[in-house]
Amino acid sequence: MDKILRINMGADGGPQAKAEPLGDYAGLGGRAMTSGIVSKEVPPTCHPLSADNKLVIAPGLLSGSVAAMSGRISVGCKSPLTGGIKEANSGGQPSQMLGRLGYAAIVLEGKPKEKALYKVFINKDGVEIKEDNSLCMLGNYDTVAKMKAEYGEKVHCISIGPVGEMKMSAASVAFTDMEQRPTRHAGRGGVGAVMGSKGVKVIVIDDEGCSMRAAADPEKFKAANKEFVAGLRKHPVSGEGLPAYGTNVLTNVINEAGGYPTKNFQFGQFEGASKISGETQAELENARGGEGSATLGCHRGCVIRCSGTFYDKNGNFLTKQVEYETMWAHGGNCGIDDLDAIAQIDRLDDDFGVDTIELGAAIAVAMEGGLAEFGDAEAATNLVKEVGKGTPLGRILGNGAAVTGQVFGVERVPVVKRQAMPAYDPRAVQGQGVTYATTTMGADHTAGNVIDKNLDSLGGSLNPLKADGQVEVSREYQIDVAAFDCTGLCIFANSAVNTNAKAGEALLTMINAKFGTRLTAADKRALGIRVLKAELEFNRKAGLTKADDRLAKFFYEEPLPPHNTVVVVSDEDMDSTFGDGF
Ligand code: SF4
Repeated sequence: MDKILRINMGADGGPQAKAEPLGDYAGLGGRAMTSGIVSKEVPPTCHPLSADNKLVIAPGLLSGSVAAMSGRISVGCKSPLTGGIKEANSGGQPSQMLGRLGYAAIVLEGKPKEKALYKVFINKDGVEIKEDNSLCMLGNYDTVAKMKAEYGEKVHCISIGPVGEMKMSAASVAFTDMEQRPTRHAGRGGVGAVMGSKGVKVIVIDDEGCSMRAAADPEKFKAANKEFVAGLRKHPVSGEGLPAYGTNVLTNVINEAGGYPTKNFQFGQFEGASKISGETQAELENARGGEGSATLGCHRGCVIRCSGTFYDKNGNFLTKQVEYETMWAHGGNCGIDDLDAIAQIDRLDDDFGVDTIELGAAIAVAMEGGLAEFGDAEAATNLVKEVGKGTPLGRILGNGAAVTGQVFGVERVPVVKRQAMPAYDPRAVQGQGVTYATTTMGADHTAGNVIDKNLDSLGGSLNPLKADGQVEVSREYQIDVAAFDCTGLCIFANSAVNTNAKAGEALLTMINAKFGTRLTAADKRALGIRVLKAELEFNRKAGLTKADDRLAKFFYEEPLPPHNTVVVVSDEDMDSTFGDGF
């Protein structure tokens, strides 16, 4: 990938596109690219929805090649939710396609002078930007259908729904999957609101006529890819659990561990968990026919295939196989154990373009504030519809759990840096709390998910209820993930990479064979540190301090059943994660 596409939405005479050489950003991909551009070019104190912010969309280093699992794409900006730097990533087809078109990044800059909505079309011949206000307030599904009708059946899309257009802080950016459905999302931190502020509704990609990105040493690359795939197939998570049940395999695991946040983080176990578990979901999907459960990749080249299709009671496509975090956010966290209702909400979230974790958390907070009863699936569905319509209540919820807590006078608001916490209660998995508190992203499990080091059932050796060793593990995982997020590989490949020496070596060999480099494991770690340092520095300049690296007070005071424990990692230990020596 040899160029960056800059689109100035505020140019005189209308938006203008310009492809330019990589320059200072040569050798970067994914999160290193997004955080590199944002930390260098975006004023840290700017308003996230202003012309000064930039939205960077970057495939990974291996995207566009034949490397298995290499369809991950990063979206970065200053976050309207956290006020700090943001990188949210997603699966789907666009990463591979942009890679093949030769783009290492798309940078949306400036802001249209008039209120107007634009579509961007990219193919091998260049870039075309057109105003199209007929797309106004369309859902992601209709937007994609319209683009296919206009640009051809083979195109893929990066789009926002009405929530992004209305610039709510929980708005996501959608990416089409292999079936050209907008089911994959860069969900966290309001990246969709920033795309909305740029006036870009959809980026349509056509890679016809482009070939796979070649490797400097094709034979070595091919052999390393084969070794990498063998490592994935051997690992119990990527080779068995995920292909069989998808990410929702975690519902029973986390519930049994007592760390499943239930009814707005009041309890660590949910009585209805088995009704919404991955096992139950797979059974239902199989019974309803179609492609069956857990048999799909979200992009070509995925060999884990943790995704699938959810059909409604009449056998019609409803949504993709609901993922663990979504099943939890709209399920157990709201006291809801109705699979069909949660799948319906997932479809609405994807269509409206909203982060399922943030919205589920906001609804649970609103339930605690008295807006609806825990367990009331119909009320929850109606609240999601309010968000899609942009009613005043919908706009409160769509701006996240922190805003919702303020508006409804709720004290138990599970956020860090105003971003809602995902599906692992830190009182039952202390290291998860360290990651939530100290990551540059706001509460985010993907920034350093340490459950495998904590839970017996996953082979962990740390005591999840104690502080010992948690800071060290979280720090190492955060460094490791910051580097891994640059590759363009799906995070679910990382367990095998970290536990199977041959798979880890194969990853490095693939990168070296592709670029003709001689990077070592130490170089990979140094890259992770470099990315984190740039992000920490941006956040510091944006005004975030150590006081923002804290969990909400109730986590330290309210014991969580069934273990009846609180967070015991001290503030000093939290601060040592990225302390003076880092
Ligand atoms: S493992 Fe799942 S999330 Fe990862 S690329 Fe495959 S389908 Fe997508």
